[in-house]
Amino acid sequence: MIVTRFAPSPTGFLHLGHAFSAFNAWRRAREAGGRFLLRLEDIDPGRCRPEYAAAIQQDLSWLGLDWDGLVRVQSEHLAEYRAALDTLAEQGLVYPCFCTRAEVAREVSASAAAPHGPDGAPLYPGTCRRLSPNEGAERIAAGERFALRLDMAAALRPGLCFEEEGQGRIACHPERFGDVVLSRKDAPASYHLCVTHDDALQGVTLVTRGEDLKPATDLHRLLQELMGWPAPVYAHHRLLVDAAGQRLAKRDRAVTLRSLRADGVSAQTIIDRFS
Ligand code: GLU
Repeated sequence: MIVTRFAPSPTGFLHLGHAFSAFNAWRRAREAGGRFLLRLEDIDPGRCRPEYAAAIQQDLSWLGLDWDGLVRVQSEHLAEYRAALDTLAEQGLVYPCFCTRAEVAREVSASAAAPHGPDGAPLYPGTCRRLSPNEGAERIAAGERFALRLDMAAALRPGLCFEEEGQGRIACHPERFGDVVLSRKDAPASYHLCVTHDDALQGVTLVTRGEDLKPATDLHRLLQELMGWPAPVYAHHRLLVDAAGQRLAKRDRAVTLRSLRADGVSAQTIIDRFS
């Protein structure tokens, strides 16, 4: 049975781009007699707010997109993500990182040709990977805050591919992310870990999401492999743009579903735009 999901982060009101993404996932499930799940990816305490979580559910209902079962709220499942991190730690695939952003920036600027990741940010130079286990343990015991990073060189698996609907198998290059953060100093897990954990736990078979997340799929596929989780099929869709060709963003109030509704636009008008 096909299982799809819409997994927004409650950091703002939904806009047309989210509606398009949710509609894609909902339609694929409904057309196939499958399940459509709603998951709130709210592990970032600094950016997520309960009022947005409530608004997401109201806006989807207004659009006529119904979901199956209970809404999964990631912040209620932190122990599960902790357990996944422990599994990676037992395999020696993660290490604590005590660096501040400023320290990383300083180190990166000191090296002549620092490699950059898919998001354009410089890769972590590996400073804390070189700490001895003793030193790491001492600093943790002394109460120093730390992130957990994946040791990419140790974690890499050759020949990984993901399945993109309509395109077949696409070779993965997760090494482009370097030693990615899986648990932050200020949040107990990262998007990459939680999204792959939950897709597996919830039995998602088809991940429909915007093509801006396509590069991250390489990393998600690696985490699935390391954790023994099944690999869903992916269907990355185009991103909606405004009249000027700019990608729709949360800060652009004009295109939130709430403001459209307040302006008298009907849900059907919005859905018709997607079909
Ligand atoms: N929570 C992510 C976001 O709001 C989307 C996760 C996904 O669809 O994989 O951008």
